[in-house]
Amino acid sequence: MGKKTTHKFKAEVSQLLDILVHSLYTNKEIFLRELVSNASDALEKVRFMTTAEGGQDDTPLEIRIEADKDARTITITDTGVGMTRDELMKNIGTIAHSGTAELTRMAQEGKAPLDALIGRFGVGFYSVYMVADEVEVTTRSIEPDAAPVAWTSDGKNDYKLQDIDDATGENGGESMARGTRIVVRLKEDLASQFTNTAHLKSVIKKHSNFINFPILVDGERVNTVTALWREPKFQITGDQYAEFYKFLTYDSEDPLDTLHTSVDAPVQFNALMFTPKTGGDPFGMNRENRGLDLYVRRVLIEKQNKDLLPEYLGFIKGVVDTEDLPLNISRETLQDNLLIRKISSTLVKQVLDNLEKIAKDDADRYAEFWHAHGTLFKAGYMDFLNKDKFGRLVRFNSSASPSASSGATGLASFADYLSRAREGQKEIYYAYGPSREALGLSPHLEVFRKKGLEVLYLFEPIDEFVMDALRDFDGHALVAAEHADMATLDGFETLEQDEQAAPLNDEQKSTLDKLLSRIKDVLGEAVTEVKVSRRLSGSPVCLANPDGNVTSSMDKIMRVISK
Ligand code: ADP
Ligand code: MG
Repeated sequence: MGKKTTHKFKAEVSQLLDILVHSLYTNKEIFLRELVSNASDALEKVRFMTTAEGGQDDTPLEIRIEADKDARTITITDTGVGMTRDELMKNIGTIAHSGTAELTRMAQEGKAPLDALIGRFGVGFYSVYMVADEVEVTTRSIEPDAAPVAWTSDGKNDYKLQDIDDATGENGGESMARGTRIVVRLKEDLASQFTNTAHLKSVIKKHSNFINFPILVDGERVNTVTALWREPKFQITGDQYAEFYKFLTYDSEDPLDTLHTSVDAPVQFNALMFTPKTGGDPFGMNRENRGLDLYVRRVLIEKQNKDLLPEYLGFIKGVVDTEDLPLNISRETLQDNLLIRKISSTLVKQVLDNLEKIAKDDADRYAEFWHAHGTLFKAGYMDFLNKDKFGRLVRFNSSASPSASSGATGLASFADYLSRAREGQKEIYYAYGPSREALGLSPHLEVFRKKGLEVLYLFEPIDEFVMDALRDFDGHALVAAEHADMATLDGFETLEQDEQAAPLNDEQKSTLDKLLSRIKDVLGEAVTEVKVSRRLSGSPVCLANPDGNVTSSMDKIMRVISK
């Protein structure tokens, strides 16, 4: 038996542990997820090493969890890579100083949910002290000649290390095999909850269902859902996809669309992406609730990663799994990671291509997508790299059809518009307004109605940003109706002939001039000019923006923003 030595934790750890233990009140169970994923990481490393070296080992790769009510313990045993004495000190006895300081600060300020932080700063192991009085880690590294070592601590100020006699093992039984055994001595008030195997099983199912090694609770396998995204497409039924989707999202309905892809170059990844039937968050109140779950070889690295898909595709739910990231990548270095950016640009292309395919093959389904997610999707006007695709995917209401509240009728694409355009029409006209009724009365649109020129109706403020950003579609300029050039409009014959207004005589002209200058006097600085217009036929007067200015509705938006 080796000599027992006592070591101090590195600075600030005790403070951190204290925060962890006292703040993570509601979510104590995540300690199990952290220990299981560490075990899975360790097993994955063995699999990697043994496949690389020809795999001569026959120890089963698995995770065993046993509860002992009388001893008040849970024991988690894996047959993974284990740790040498040095690794044990480095990995379990140290938390990166800067990370700790930052975490402590953020936790104290209540900036972020603690369970998210724990993962991000790679201090998962310490979450065990939410539930434990004392923890004993016994481990033996896969390295040849490595001896078993035991680590014990109550998680306060220090830990004890002890070398274990290889011949007998700590308990005088058979010698310790490769891997790690963690004995968690539960706090008294939590013991009955966490030594209850039914509870343990439900916690494992909730957090660790896709772990690719058997997780056995009291000898019974618990994790059964396969990582569907890694299976060959042709073997998966629609029901399996739907079941997986519901498991992932808690949605009770089937998804509107499923997109399962696998890419080998320039990066390797599998993705399984679903479009829900309904938009979860029509007002964008909960921006955090989006993102794909990122896995590295079936091990969850980050839930709802925000860098894999841009915000406007935030309606998509699903998972991405790559082999090209290291297992031990910290959540901090994921941001701004070149590989993630490469995956992202491929994913965006796949999603947009898929939407185009739906729009082409199944207009009703596309309309369903649009009604559920169109408002969010429109923010894609900022994605300049995919401007052309985006332009083919946006839909608007139009003067040419009834309002679109459901179904495909009434939704106009730019291509639909052009297919109905008048001969020789080069421009696409649009107007922003609060409703179809209001636009139907708008004096600005009189000339368009008279000449049978279709006008796209924009009912949402974001629509105008879309038009501004796109500028043109397929060589046709997008033009606000109120800015349309009269000379161009004159080129189109009037459909129904109005009674021709007789030319004004001199007296009428001078009366009109007087009226114009009188109006200018009254309105003063509020207007730049008052003039006679040929745009109007039914209405006596309308407000117009000077040429080259933003549209009047955009002007209103800008005023609100700059307040
Ligand atoms: P992270 O898993 O994010 O690195 P943890 O605090 O969960 O942070 O674990 C710290 C380190 O301790 C791990 O990176 C790993 O090197 C080591 N470790 C923890 N549990 C095990 C285990 N069961 N087998 C082998 N190594 C482990
Ligand atoms: Mg961990």
